[in-house]
Amino acid sequence: MQGSMMMRPLKIADILSYAAEIHPLSEVVSVRTEGDIHRQTYAGTARRVAKLAHGLVSQGMQTGDRVATLAWNGYRHLELYYAISGAGGVCHTINPRLSAEQMTYIVNHANDTMLFVDTTFVPLVAALRDQWPAGLKVVVMTDRDHMPEGDFLCYEELLDGQSDSFDWPDFPEDTAAGLCYTSGTTGNPKGTLYTHRSTVLHAMMVGLSLPTALQPGKRILPVVPLFHVNAWGLPYAAPLTGASLIFPGGALDGESLFRLMDNEKVYSAWGVPTVWLGLQGEITKQGRMPEGLGDMVVGGSAAPASMIQFFEEGDVNVCHAWGMTEMSPIGTQGNLPDHLNDKPMAERIAIKSKQGRRVFGVDLKIVDEDGKRLPHDGEAAGELYVRGNAITSGYFENEEANKTAFDADGWFGTGDVATIDTHGFLTITDRAKDLIKSGGEWISSLDLENTVMAHPKVANCAVIAVPHPKWDERPLMIVVPSPEGKPEVGDLMDMLKEHFATWQLPDDVVFVEDLPMTATGKVSKLTLRKQFGDHKLPDA
Ligand code: AMP
Repeated sequence: MQGSMMMRPLKIADILSYAAEIHPLSEVVSVRTEGDIHRQTYAGTARRVAKLAHGLVSQGMQTGDRVATLAWNGYRHLELYYAISGAGGVCHTINPRLSAEQMTYIVNHANDTMLFVDTTFVPLVAALRDQWPAGLKVVVMTDRDHMPEGDFLCYEELLDGQSDSFDWPDFPEDTAAGLCYTSGTTGNPKGTLYTHRSTVLHAMMVGLSLPTALQPGKRILPVVPLFHVNAWGLPYAAPLTGASLIFPGGALDGESLFRLMDNEKVYSAWGVPTVWLGLQGEITKQGRMPEGLGDMVVGGSAAPASMIQFFEEGDVNVCHAWGMTEMSPIGTQGNLPDHLNDKPMAERIAIKSKQGRRVFGVDLKIVDEDGKRLPHDGEAAGELYVRGNAITSGYFENEEANKTAFDADGWFGTGDVATIDTHGFLTITDRAKDLIKSGGEWISSLDLENTVMAHPKVANCAVIAVPHPKWDERPLMIVVPSPEGKPEVGDLMDMLKEHFATWQLPDDVVFVEDLPMTATGKVSKLTLRKQFGDHKLPDA
């Protein structure tokens, strides 16, 4: 029997309309590329978003068009999130840290019709534009006074003279709203195509799961970027709950972040461990915490116990979270229930070093090599699979990848290896995917290996992650020379530079006579990681 309640589609535009009405004075504060601090309220944001939507339509944006962004965290980027999806387009965020080759692949695969860029990235766009779809309109996210030379449209001119109200269209709630490519799997980057429904549900899940941070009057600093993983859902969850957003722009070093947090009285700060390491250095230098800081969310890579302890001892609640682009992205969060929060510090740190417990709407299972479920006893480790309301059901136009991404029951394989304890705490113990995560960004070991294998003096090669104090992991390349002799390291780097961003290149190359093999004839990365676990990288 069918129920008889109204079936109103969940729509992203409704989040901002709600915020403008119920939390009109909560703020969006941004460090701008123009060099100053900009402030507007949610009510003001809603008015500008309406103007921008008119601007997009006047430029010919059609339902389903992919409109890309290449930008830092700031109010204009937030406006694009709402205006593009609200008017029926798909907001495609591009990670500027990807290599030129990956970026070109993504823009062409998505077939973007427009691209919005911060002034910082104009030279990058100019260099790559002739390899991107013909007719791609590029809009620079600034005012007329700061416009660069060239064939660009001006963001503020798109808004000029437009009406500050927009009749947001209704469409089915599974209409595409956002697109984000991840390089966190092997091969070319793969796109996750979010729906209005998944995005609104995810915003509610995040708001419910992190209630200490997401409240009216609380000020939140997303260092996690709008250009990747939807800034962990904050662009939606903050307006929904009335929390203010403090956007840091492109200055993410410890000193700049400390100053911004101090001046803006940031209560909760969200980002990857590498960023907080920089902040930790500044806190130590100044001998105090930024004023008002009481909470932080750390994820993207494992939060080190020493970092958790540092902030907890400074009376800052640390929430260790785990998730993925393909999950919108939040999967688990590590705020402790009262009975665990009262434990002595050492015990609390140990529990908080785990990746937390699942949020509502996310189911977790760990399986053995035959796909058989393993118990949640904190001992059994297996590959982690997920299913839920805001998790991808298939990569965007990528049949090949979709053949292997899911198990027979439709669960999505994360590529992480984990245990889950009896209280539901997840611990990521290893990674099944052959990737390295440096400062929260991916490097494909397989792609590095394949590239240098083309060198006549390389007989075999393996790239592994070695621990790094600042970047968490960095790539080490292990090469077996061919009988022709040893290749020059400089030659190998030149080969790699053609395909990879500079920060993706290995920090060191070592030569060995042969590589350890597994029983199935594959290079045993596990053995290599043990063997080179203590390897001292040149700058570490
Ligand atoms: P991305 O889609 O780029 O956010 O990457 C998602 C992947 O990052 C996960 O599958 C994990 O491998 C890794 N990851 C995210 N958060 C954590 C965490 N708290 N601890 C360990 N690994 C993490």
